[in-house]
Amino acid sequence: MTRTEKLPVMVLGGGPASVFTACGLVKLGFRVGLITRPRPFPAWEGLSERPRVSLRHFGFVKTLASIGPKVARAAHWNGVSRVQNQEYILERQRFDQALLEDAMDKGVEVIRGRVENVKRQRACWHISCQTAQGARTFATNFLVEGRGREARLGRRLSGSDVVTAPATSALLKSYRVSMDRPAMTSVAAFAKGWAWFLRDGAGMAILQIFIGSERGDLPPKDGLEVYFSALTGQIDEAEDWLDGAQAEDSAVSVRTAAATLTRPAGGKDFLVVGDGSLALDPLSGNGIFYAIGSGLAAAPVINTLINRPADGDLALQFYRERIELAFAGGCQSAREFYASEQRWPGQPFWQARRNWPVEASSAGSLSGTAELCRKPVVRDGFITGEEVIVTPDHPRGVWQVDGVPLVPLLRSAGSGEGMAAAFGVTAGQLAAARRWLAEHNISG
Ligand SMILES: Cc1cc2nc3c(=O)[nH]c(=O)nc-3n(C[C@H](O)[C@H](O)[C@H](O)COP(=O)(O)OP(=O)(O)OC[C@H]3O[C@@H](n4cnc5c(N)ncnc54)[C@H](O)[C@@H]3O)c2cc1C
Repeated sequence: MTRTEKLPVMVLGGGPASVFTACGLVKLGFRVGLITRPRPFPAWEGLSERPRVSLRHFGFVKTLASIGPKVARAAHWNGVSRVQNQEYILERQRFDQALLEDAMDKGVEVIRGRVENVKRQRACWHISCQTAQGARTFATNFLVEGRGREARLGRRLSGSDVVTAPATSALLKSYRVSMDRPAMTSVAAFAKGWAWFLRDGAGMAILQIFIGSERGDLPPKDGLEVYFSALTGQIDEAEDWLDGAQAEDSAVSVRTAAATLTRPAGGKDFLVVGDGSLALDPLSGNGIFYAIGSGLAAAPVINTLINRPADGDLALQFYRERIELAFAGGCQSAREFYASEQRWPGQPFWQARRNWPVEASSAGSLSGTAELCRKPVVRDGFITGEEVIVTPDHPRGVWQVDGVPLVPLLRSAGSGEGMAAAFGVTAGQLAAARRWLAEHNISG
C-alpha cells in the first residue's frame, strides 16, 4: 500500500504553462508539487523574441541557455519567396528539461513520473503516478492540469464543449546533414498542406509536414515512411532543403496540431493551463509564448480561488475571457494566412482552412470608441474588479499603463510633479500613461 503525500497545489505536466504556473504560485507563498514525464517523441520548434524576453525577465537562466541559435526564417507562400522574420531554434526535450531545472531552483517540488490516474473525491483530488522508484500517490485541494494536448481533465469535465479547427497532423522526420551547412529555418506551402524545415548548423535537420487528417486520411503506422516520402516529393522546396541529407533511422513521428479550445478552463478547485485549454495553430509560431502567458495569468487566478473564494467567479471570468479572446484572435490570423495562399483553391486542405472559423472574428479591429467599465484585473497577486478603459483593440480593458491607473488619471485635474507624487510614480511614468491616452484619443 503506497502512502499518500499531501500538497496544497499539484500541477500535472512540465511544459512552459505548468512551469510558469508553479513558479508563480511559489512566489505567492504556496507549496507546489509538479508531476511530469519527459516528452516521449523528438520535437523541434521555433521561438520568437517575445517568449525569450519573458524567460529573461523571470530569471529562467538554464532555460535561456538551452535555446539554440537565432536564424532567418525563409517563407515560400503563394508563389512568393522572402525572408520573413527571425526565430530561435528549440530542441524541445532539452528546453523542457531546462525549464524543470529552473523550476526546482525556484522552489517547485518536481516529481518525475507519469500521471496514471486522477480522481476527485469530495473536496480532494487524488493523483496516482508511476516513477522510476515505483508508484506514488498524492492528494491535493487544488489541481492544475497542464499536460498540453494530452490533457484529459479539461476534456473529461467539459463534456462536448470542445471547439476544434479542421483536423491537422504534423509528421516529422530527422536527417543528418553536413556540419558545414548553416543553421536555418524555412516554411513552404504545397497542395496538401505546408512544411517547416530546420537545420541546426550542427549536422542535424528535420522536416515537419502539416496535412489535413480527418478520420482515415493518415495511413497505419507501418505505412507512414512511404506516405511521408510521397508528401516530400510534392514539396518543391524539399529538394533543395534535403540536398545531401541522409535520413535518420528513427521512425516518422506524428503530433496532432489543430487549434483547439476546451471549456471549462477552470472551477473552484482546478484550472487547465496552456494547450490543455487553448492550443493554437502551430502556423502562428506563438504556442510557447501563449503557454507562458497562460501560466503567468493562472497564478493570481488560483491565489484568488484559494484565498479569496468570494472573488472566485471574477477570477474565472478573467481567465475565461483571456482564453476566448486569444482563441478568436489566433483563429482569425490563421484563417487570413491560409486564405493568402491561393494556388490550390480546390484542394481540401486549403478550402477547409480559408473558411474556418465560418464567422470571421472582429477581434483586433481598430474602429469604434473607448468605454469605461469594470473588469477583472491582476492586482497584488489577486484578481480584483477595477475600472478600466475598453477599446476595440483592447477588449479586456486596460487598467494601468506603466503603473499609472488610467481611469483615476482621466478624472484627476492637475499636472507636473505634484500629480506624479499623488500617483506614487515618476514624471516619466505619468508621461507614458498620458501618451497612451492621447494615442487612443481619450480625454477626461
Ligand atoms: C507540431 C507542432 C509544432 C509546434 N511548433 C511550435 C513552434 O514552432 N513555436 C511555438 O512557440 N509553439 C509551437 N507549438 C506549440 C507548442 O508546442 C505548445 O503550444 C506549448 O508547448 C504548450 O505548452 P504547455 O505547457 O501547455 O504543454 P506542453 O509543452 O505540451 O507540455 C506538456 C507536458 O506534460 C507532459 N505530460 C503529458 N502527459 C503526461 C502524463 N500522463 N504524466 C506526466 N506528464 C505528462 C508532457 O510530457 C509535457 O512535458 C507547436 C505545436 C505542435 C503540435
